[in-house]
This record gives sequence, structure tokens and C-alpha cells, in this order.
Amino acid sequence: MARGFSLFSGKKVLALDVECVANGKGHNDRVPCWVVIVNEKGRVLLDLKIKVTDMVSPLTRFSGVTAAMLRSALPLDTVMRRVHKVLNSPAITLVGQSIENDIAWLGLEKGVHYGDSEDIAEHFRTYNEKYKDYNYFSLVQTAYGLLGTSIQSTAHSPIEDAKTAMRLYVEWIKTGRDAEGGARLTRMRYKRQFPQETMPTDIHCDGVCGAKYQQARCICGQPCVERKRE
Ligand SMILES: [Zn+2]
Repeated sequence: MARGFSLFSGKKVLALDVECVANGKGHNDRVPCWVVIVNEKGRVLLDLKIKVTDMVSPLTRFSGVTAAMLRSALPLDTVMRRVHKVLNSPAITLVGQSIENDIAWLGLEKGVHYGDSEDIAEHFRTYNEKYKDYNYFSLVQTAYGLLGTSIQSTAHSPIEDAKTAMRLYVEWIKTGRDAEGGARLTRMRYKRQFPQETMPTDIHCDGVCGAKYQQARCICGQPCVERKRE
């Protein structure tokens, strides 16, 4: 750790990504299994897997996690002590794709563990005049369109996701270019310039519902969140 890292109470931006596995068949039945925190320079400050006792499915296709990978995981309270050592101040701004989920899964408290949060997806959304709603872009599509990188091309990794979210924040949001970025992504969608594999059609996995944001595709009946994703 760099000298003076925690000695100054100045503003600090950290990217957080939490992978989850399913502990039930519903789209809200998720428990954290892997936490990654990356600083503004893209350095990994924390990378820990969490032991899960009531796993229904590791959701490997989405989480990149297999049951075997979690055998060496640490108990939740041990991981949370380490997380709270890094996330320990209202001067911290957390960034990530749909960051509210990551915050909720870890039970982080605003004003205690962090002060602000920036959802990448909200910064790049654009209004769709025809359908009177918003276009949202996945982290894969946003990285492809704005950073020119293909993430999650082999296995899904929270380290790659957190680093990507931080790059988008530093290069596009902090510099005030988020509206420009959203416009570019929208043009790319209309011109069908995203690679096909960045638009997965099957959102369910092992019979576990994955339609938290798509009421029409929900197979579990748990309440959905209003957000148009494609
Ligand atoms: Zn559902």
C-alpha cells in the first residue's frame, strides 16, 4: 500500500464489483461470493472470494464462478472486515455498473463506508423519444463502444469489470463526456455495430431467473426493477 494512502481524508474514488451466486430460484435470490475493489489508477486493492453455504447455482455463465473456485473462499465476516478497512470513509465515492446492487449485497452504509456512488449505466443512458423511455447499455457494450476493448470475451472476471468501470469513470465521466458517450453508444446500437455476443439472449441460468430488469421475461414472480436494458 502506498505511503499515506489512508492518512489523508481527501476525496477518493474506488471501483467496486461484487459477483453473486444464487441461493434461490428468484432473480433477487443472490448472495455475494467475490469482492473486488480497484483504485483510480486501476490497481487492485482487494480481491477476495466469500464462502457460500446455501448455494443453489454458481451462475457460472454470468459470475465466472464455479463451485470449485469457492472451496478456498473465506467466511463472510472475515471478508467484510477486510472490506471495511478499505471502505471506511464518507470521502469515498464508489463507481460501478449498477453499483446500487453491489452496495446492497455487501450491506454497505452510506456516510459510514462510503459517501457517494456513481452508476456507470445511468451516466450513459439516453432518452428514447419514440418509446418514451431510456436506452441502457451493458458494461460489455460500453467498454466496446467507448474504450475499444472486448471484456468478458473468455471468462467473466470482477477484476476486469472493476478496472473497466474505473476507466470509463476516469476517461468519460470525470471529464464530462458522458452525454457524448451515450450518444455514441446509441448510434452504435441503431447501426447494429455491437458484436452479437455482447447481447446475450438467454438471461436465465440453471433454472434461476435473471430478469430483475425485464418484467416480461421474469419466470420467478419476484418484483422487477423498471429499467429498459436493450
Ligand atoms: Zn424473476
